[in-house]
Amino acid sequence: MPPTMVPVLSRAEIAQKIKTLARRISQDYADEEPVAIGILKGAFVFLADLVRELTIPVEIDFVRLASYGSDTSSSGHIQITKEIELDISGRHVLVVEDIVDSGLTIAYLLDYLKPFRPKSVRVCTLIDKAERREVKIPTHYVGHVVERGFLVGYGLDFDEKYRALPEIYHLEP
Ligand code: 5GP
Ligand code: MG
Repeated sequence: MPPTMVPVLSRAEIAQKIKTLARRISQDYADEEPVAIGILKGAFVFLADLVRELTIPVEIDFVRLASYGSDTSSSGHIQITKEIELDISGRHVLVVEDIVDSGLTIAYLLDYLKPFRPKSVRVCTLIDKAERREVKIPTHYVGHVVERGFLVGYGLDFDEKYRALPEIYHLEP
């Protein structure tokens, strides 16, 4: 049986949340030019839409973090498979993530970024599964909070599928 896909966020709802986030970020970084670091692959769609709503200039870089374990939860064995390329020393960094779950991925990334001596680091995530947090991490900009469930679409995959869907769905097996 194909999985059931329950709509969570429509195109319009996503666009509205991104506008709100972008307004706050543009105000907070007024007169600054932060470096937005997207976490591949999931955040590529969100980052693309977010940066186009900002009214401040921004430079863009990516990291790719792989977590090995089951398909639907992170194992905590995280590896960086693509490093940053821009020099972020003395720069304001905005980490852009699709979804924060246990927090292990962001915790790992924040530790990785520290030795590059950024001026500041903040985290922007489209979705926060706050109830599932295992490690305390800062999430400065959150688009939408969900309690549980596995989400796909808008960059989020299940086994590399569904990333290109313009809406976000809850996947029910
Ligand atoms: P964390 O390290 O916070 O547990 O998990 C973060 C990563 O796990 C995210 O970057 C994402 O790749 C993946 N992840 C967590 N929850 C979901 C989900 O509901 N759907 C999808 N597609 N990926 C998720
Ligand atoms: Mg991800």
